[in-house]
Amino acid sequence: MKITVLGAGGMGSRFALMLHRAGNEVTLVDGWQANIDAIRKDGLQADFNGEPVTVKLPIYSPIEIDRIGDQADLIIVFTKSNQLTTMFDAVRPIINPDTYVLCLLNGIGHEDVLEKYVAKDHLLLGITMWTAGMTGPGHATLVGNGNVELQNFAPAGKDFAQQVVQVFDEAGLNATYSDNVKYAIWRKACVNGTLNSLCALLACNIGELGKTHGIEGLLKAIIAEFAAVGAHEGLQLDQAEIYQHVAATFTSDIADHYPSMYQDLVINHRKTEIDFINGTVWRKGEQYGVPTPDCQLLTQLIQMKEVLVKAK
Ligand code: NAD
Repeated sequence: MKITVLGAGGMGSRFALMLHRAGNEVTLVDGWQANIDAIRKDGLQADFNGEPVTVKLPIYSPIEIDRIGDQADLIIVFTKSNQLTTMFDAVRPIINPDTYVLCLLNGIGHEDVLEKYVAKDHLLLGITMWTAGMTGPGHATLVGNGNVELQNFAPAGKDFAQQVVQVFDEAGLNATYSDNVKYAIWRKACVNGTLNSLCALLACNIGELGKTHGIEGLLKAIIAEFAAVGAHEGLQLDQAEIYQHVAATFTSDIADHYPSMYQDLVINHRKTEIDFINGTVWRKGEQYGVPTPDCQLLTQLIQMKEVLVKAK
């Protein structure tokens, strides 16, 4: 398949590398100039489960979009949520009526942005449990296992969504076709909206968060806000199951992990995805007349911290 990956950070690098190694024709588009320069010079370099791997892939900045040749069958989006609009404004010329777009970002409501650029029947949504990180421009760390769940946004996209599942599976990405990806996206947003925002604010890892006093009540209150807002969008989130799922991480093999929002805010002083997680629940809550005091407070505190650390 001819695939363009928008955003060559950790996750974009993982998917690009694995899909390229499986024989797909992969092109990267990225807005980080140092990353583009490094990949052009030395290739995309990765620690791939302990094995050093280098792949040569074409990479363009969004302002060079007219240099990309034939149109892709599939565009996979792996920017950060807050980079989505800027990226799509720039890449409009490579989205033709036959191009499908798959969004695997964390966060809620990306379809509202993407619908402005892509027809609904060419839009695919999903989540992934794969992980990845960048150790510097052109260098990715890709360890562990994961999976992908995806689904077409409108019924007409089903055949292509199933083709993508097959292509991803052949690349070892463990993909499944989901019958209710919206539920999966909100469930994952509950995980990010509890662990990510709290670990970033408290500057702690997941295991340390689990040992704090009163954490059970706070998690349940945050999840209840996601559920109350989700109910206005036709979702019946199973709060007890989601709480158990989140609480289980405190003593799991990811207990020592510092979530990405911590890395963005505390370590790298980058803008976080809070607006698209707790922030979206707060905004949608206002729209539906549902109080979301915890999501509002978490969003505002993270935003204040972004100002204090001069996050870019
Ligand atoms: P990322 O920050 O690594 O990359 C996103 C974009 O930011 C890329 O264009 C990248 O080139 C750029 N970038 C990265 N580091 C930069 C720096 N220091 N300076 C300037 N630009 C930089 O993001 P990601 O981790 O690949 O995540 C992409 C999406 O996937 C997000 O929505 C994230 O929540 C989601 N996600 C991530 C993981 C994970 O383990 N990383 C897992 C599941 C989902």
